[in-house]
Amino acid sequence: MTLLWRDPWLKPLTDGDVGTENCAFCKKEFKEIEFVTACDFCDFGIMHDSCANKHTLQKHRKELESKISSHKDKPLHDYQ
Ligand SMILES: [Zn+2]
Ligand SMILES: [Zn+2]
Repeated sequence: MTLLWRDPWLKPLTDGDVGTENCAFCKKEFKEIEFVTACDFCDFGIMHDSCANKHTLQKHRKELESKISSHKDKPLHDYQ
């Protein structure tokens, strides 16, 4: 199993880093190579990249929009 952390660059994770073999969102087992990421807004767990996008849109619409608007003013990494 190779899970690739998308942000800030692709980084292979060991099983110990991940602590799970299933996506926190869709509960499916990770396959041989998956793109995964974690939620920026809560400790939901490791998810498929596409699942994380869905989770964020479903659960964190307001946070997402405020983050997007804060990034308009500050293009560099700055979480607040
Ligand atoms: Zn998933
Ligand atoms: Zn979340």
